[in-house]
Amino acid sequence: MNIQQSLWFDPTMIFIGGARCRPGSDSTIPVENPSTGEVICAIGRGTAADVDAAVTAAEAALEGAWGRMPAVERGRILMRMSQLVLARAEELAFLESTDVGKPMKQARNDSTALARYLEFYAGAADKVHGTTIPYQDGFTVYTLREPHGVTGHIIPWNYPLQILGRSVGAALAMGNACVLKPAEDASLSSLAFASIAAEAGLPAGALNIVTGYGAEVGAALSEHPGVHHVSFTGSVGTGRRIQEAAARNVVPVTLELGGKSPHIVFDDVDLEAALPTLVGACMQAAGQTCSAASRVLVQRGIYDEVRRRMAEVYQGLEVGPAPDNRDLGPLVSKRQKEIVSSYIALGKQDLAVAGEGRIRDDAPAAGNYVAPVLFAEVPPDHRLAQEEIFGPVQVLIPFDTEADAIRIANGTEYGLVAGVWTRDGGRQMRLARKLNVGQVFINNYGAGGGIELPFGGVGKSGHGREKGFEALYGFSRLKTVTASHG
Ligand code: ADP
Repeated sequence: MNIQQSLWFDPTMIFIGGARCRPGSDSTIPVENPSTGEVICAIGRGTAADVDAAVTAAEAALEGAWGRMPAVERGRILMRMSQLVLARAEELAFLESTDVGKPMKQARNDSTALARYLEFYAGAADKVHGTTIPYQDGFTVYTLREPHGVTGHIIPWNYPLQILGRSVGAALAMGNACVLKPAEDASLSSLAFASIAAEAGLPAGALNIVTGYGAEVGAALSEHPGVHHVSFTGSVGTGRRIQEAAARNVVPVTLELGGKSPHIVFDDVDLEAALPTLVGACMQAAGQTCSAASRVLVQRGIYDEVRRRMAEVYQGLEVGPAPDNRDLGPLVSKRQKEIVSSYIALGKQDLAVAGEGRIRDDAPAAGNYVAPVLFAEVPPDHRLAQEEIFGPVQVLIPFDTEADAIRIANGTEYGLVAGVWTRDGGRQMRLARKLNVGQVFINNYGAGGGIELPFGGVGKSGHGREKGFEALYGFSRLKTVTASHG
């Protein structure tokens, strides 16, 4: 497969009111293949006027066929989308792999996860309902779950297919009309998805896609007075700007921001079971995962063994061109490579290196390759143990007692997920309660996984929950009806 075969659409066009059209600027943004550094195509550079047109198209959809459609029919359309995604799973995976630099195995997983999100929300669409509430004599009181209206979805470049699925899938299931702004570094799979939505019979305007820069299209979408809910996945700084913009219109936001998630290993761990996950939970997407287990906290009694065994895994890690399906592909952009490399340089200056992977000799010099690094005995307050790096870098932090582990684990600004490895049932339950995070994994670690499982953070990791049934409540609002009938 080559990129031209996978582009069955013109990526310089945006998608508004069910049709592909030219963005108002009539200019484009080049798309680089992170594996080779080559420019492979261009996407359209949308404008605030395009966002305005997309919101108008979404409003028209809500007034028209989409707004009147019964929930079961919405579910059937989502189910058809799911089937069409599966039919095109390989092409979508190839686009994603080429655009983002993901090994094909991981990109295929993203395609099937998108299909699974659509399937889950297809089944859920007609199963969310209000309740009746006992009240005073002579009254009947009930609640209605209604869509917000027009929802804005600003998604990042690390998992475009999956995040599109969990965000737009849940919003459409509840009857909202969506305006999606993919990341400028990774818009191809979202643009491809437009064809699938249309082919599945999604009414015009129910999903609109405007590509472009964050400061132009993203900012215009988050501050548009016609948008009734904004969901965002990305960095803390951008999340703050989006929440500020939405606050001016007093509309709710769901923010899924970064993380510095701890993976906590106690002495009584089943190390053979834990070992592949201790490294894998960070290396997925070359560490560019919000829920990456980038801090590994290890109890002193087993610390040396874990350090040695993890170092062995690192020595076998190979970085190479994404479509060749190495363990790790390149980082998404030159900018990301610079950021991650500067953290690694800081780590090499201050800390001990326990293990390092390698870049294959045949990896093109212009690709954004970074060899993974494991740092040892890292003080919990060191920058590498506090700041989100978003690359293939892990820190090992020794601890003595359960109380120490909890204090260190909770000692960052973030709180997305945590993993705990111990056979002690009481300790499992105590940690599950005491860790300040949105999701705890006990004797497993599912970075990004679990379509059915509510996901989101506390602290600087954001607020609101995506995925599972919980997302359907976030993408709807409750109305209470109080009828007096004597
Ligand atoms: P990164 O810095 O790694 O690109 P961001 O959080 O800035 O991460 O990007 C995530 C998404 O947010 C992208 O779609 C990007 O275009 C968008 N974005 C960036 N800046 C803004 C902004 N000021 N307002 C709204 N969206 C933005």
